[in-house]
Amino acid sequence: MILKRLSFLLLGLILFAGRAPLQAQSLKSPQQFLGYKLGDQFTPHAQIVRYVEYLAGQAPNRLKLQTYGHTYEGRPLLLATISSEANVNRLEAIRTDNLKRIGLMPGQAGASGTQPAIVWLSYNVHGNESVSSESVLQVLYDLVTAQDANIARWLQNTVVLIDPCVNPDGRDRYATWHNQVANQMPNASPLAREHQEPWPGGRPNHYLFDLNRDWAWQTQKESQQRIVVYNQWMPQVHADFHEMGVESPYYFSPAAKPFHENVTPWQRQFQQIIGENNRKYFDKNNWLYFTRETFDLLYPSYGDTWPTFNGAIAMTYEQGGSGRAGRAIVTSNGDTLTLAQRIAHHYAASLATIEAASDRKEQVLQEYQKYYQQARTNPAGPYKTYLLKTKNQPGKVNQLTRYLDRQQIKYTYASKNSSDFGFDYTTGKSGPVKIEPNDLVISAYQPKSTLIKVLFEPVTKLEDSLTYDITSWAIPYAYGLPAYSLKGRVTNVTDKPAATATKAMATAGNERPYAYLARYNSLTDLQFLSALLTHNIKVRVTEKAFEADGQQYTPGTLIITRTGNERLGPKLDALVKAQADSFGVQVVPTQTGFVTSGVDFGSSSVRSVRKPKVGLLAGEGISPYGFGEAWHFFEQQIHYPVSVIETVNFNRLPWQQLDVLVLPDGNYQTIFDEKGLNQLKDWIRNGGKVIALEGAVAHLAGKRDFALIKKKVEDTINFKKDPYKALKIYGEAERSALSELVQGGIYRVTVDNTHPLAFGFNSTYFSLIQEVGNYQFMQNGWNVGVLKKDIYATGFAGIKARKRLQDSFVFGTQEMGRGQVVYLTNNPLFRAFWHSGKLLFGNALFMVGQ
Ligand SMILES: [Zn+2]
Repeated sequence: MILKRLSFLLLGLILFAGRAPLQAQSLKSPQQFLGYKLGDQFTPHAQIVRYVEYLAGQAPNRLKLQTYGHTYEGRPLLLATISSEANVNRLEAIRTDNLKRIGLMPGQAGASGTQPAIVWLSYNVHGNESVSSESVLQVLYDLVTAQDANIARWLQNTVVLIDPCVNPDGRDRYATWHNQVANQMPNASPLAREHQEPWPGGRPNHYLFDLNRDWAWQTQKESQQRIVVYNQWMPQVHADFHEMGVESPYYFSPAAKPFHENVTPWQRQFQQIIGENNRKYFDKNNWLYFTRETFDLLYPSYGDTWPTFNGAIAMTYEQGGSGRAGRAIVTSNGDTLTLAQRIAHHYAASLATIEAASDRKEQVLQEYQKYYQQARTNPAGPYKTYLLKTKNQPGKVNQLTRYLDRQQIKYTYASKNSSDFGFDYTTGKSGPVKIEPNDLVISAYQPKSTLIKVLFEPVTKLEDSLTYDITSWAIPYAYGLPAYSLKGRVTNVTDKPAATATKAMATAGNERPYAYLARYNSLTDLQFLSALLTHNIKVRVTEKAFEADGQQYTPGTLIITRTGNERLGPKLDALVKAQADSFGVQVVPTQTGFVTSGVDFGSSSVRSVRKPKVGLLAGEGISPYGFGEAWHFFEQQIHYPVSVIETVNFNRLPWQQLDVLVLPDGNYQTIFDEKGLNQLKDWIRNGGKVIALEGAVAHLAGKRDFALIKKKVEDTINFKKDPYKALKIYGEAERSALSELVQGGIYRVTVDNTHPLAFGFNSTYFSLIQEVGNYQFMQNGWNVGVLKKDIYATGFAGIKARKRLQDSFVFGTQEMGRGQVVYLTNNPLFRAFWHSGKLLFGNALFMVGQ
């Protein structure tokens, strides 16, 4: 198929006529700078950076450029601030006045009449939705030159912050690949190689995380650095530029239902206003578009919802295209969609957004201020305080407070005993609540109150259950901390927790103890264990509870004895202390292995934790996200060495070099055949350990020698008995399919915490579950985590799905010869934000089979 080459007619010329020549002659357009027309090829990230730097260098009085961070692969992350010369001259005052008005900075703001609205535009969060960072080059040029009188006026009313590429690693993965394989003359046939992006695709970042699911959790370096500058600016308007499949035209707000109930009337109204403003330009050019479908405002971790819960009006814009589209592609209706057209559409939406904010500047600013006023004085929702128990949970509390700090959520600690009435997250019931000193107290009366409510709400109200993503996420469940939401305010608080028992390590006479003890119940403790192992320190773990020096220790407690670590000599103490300090873990020295009650340290119930050599499968057939979550876990969370192995090499794995093999989610039909499966089983029988997740579990279940089997699906409809059951309504197809679905709900998993897979857990684990209960209890294995009857905590699950989840297997292990199979039917590393799940995975890795 030969492309009919469309010359790229710059949209600005169509839409915004009547330019007045200003400083433009001296500034190179993107085409002049790059040497090709936008749309003719994909621009590498380094060139995007060079062009923005060039504009900043040439027009410093209109564009200020900041490098706010770097990606995992070392590419710079940029923020360009563009406004009128007068505004650029007082940028810092504009920024700080904005923060003062909403209570995020102390002090009195200047006169409000001169305050411009702050508009933030984010491009290319999904790397292979690569049109964004092409169109932004034209947007930047036209804003900086401001030849159009309209643009000049908008820039008096607004400060425009532009992140030209949110995900440079993903973008370059796509752009580099495309530029390498594409024909000189674009081939628009969907069959051509330039439309078949290889594994893992350019959408996610380096660790294959979807950065548009990470705004609220901020587990990725890119998000963490971006949130710092976002909080420094706090824009009133945020637009996030995407692409969808090639068959769809263009999507702009208003967004689809469900809206989260805390999206305010003004935010809803402005969604409409923005839609109307976009419509003008799209109608004028006869471009197709749709609104109010597919892209909802519920899950709080998107580039539209997270800013929304921070008071902004925030939109997703979607152009038809993505990684399949290349520079030109023939769609099913025979039209050719070109990169140049895609650029024009995002360009139009970018300018229309700035225009809408400029036109209603006063109201945009007033409503924003009102939002924060309301947050501080009359917060949304029935609960006014969130209370978390901290006793014996320093690791979890440490992780949580670091998270709250990043979100600029303020917290204090209870200083006195008192009581209130509220909701208990563990039991799911409301009743009296005891408040004790050192409980973590998060008051709803603060600027980020709506965000707090959304992140902590026990139940998310759905006005419609058709949503794009998970439907529950409550932070107390994610961190595995006992928590309550209270109707009242807690007044007896202090900024710092009362000093806990002084570190026993410093006590005289304990310089060379018999052993060190460390409690184990959080990701932090897991990080500590991983650090000890990588420093070749021998660590033991108790399978049974014991009491020593008047303290109770649960199964999973780490014991570092001098015995076994002789070769370190006196260096052992300094090494243990250094690692404990760096993770904030408290280690307790003891002078004897003879415990008050329970098992002594020489008991056979106290096992050595071996330092396993770990392989992790990646490549064709494996879910990029599933692999990436495990990869990120090893490298960035527990800092433990891992060998990533390509699936094409499965049949010639160096089995003898591996102790553990992690099989992430994927389609294993294509990865190993009968011969491969037999190799795997032989290796397990010889002492290997497989950790199978999701799709890998599904592949092993029911196979010979594997103890896990699927549940039988009962034939629920008897057509013979009732032929009318066959009459379905076409228009309700999507809705009736919902009864079969679980959309990321939180469920109460009953846990056998005497098993090493559940060390550090209580008898209940709250799991984020996305799969319908597919498995029976195992007859020849350990059913460590199961769903029984009263299982539902929160989130959406259809009627049929809920029934099926009852009496089903969630995680457990099977012994096979001298080895182990660990089945994790739901991914405990999902998006790296379910912190309690990380301990479960860590147990599978270090504790099971010792
Ligand atoms: Zn996208």
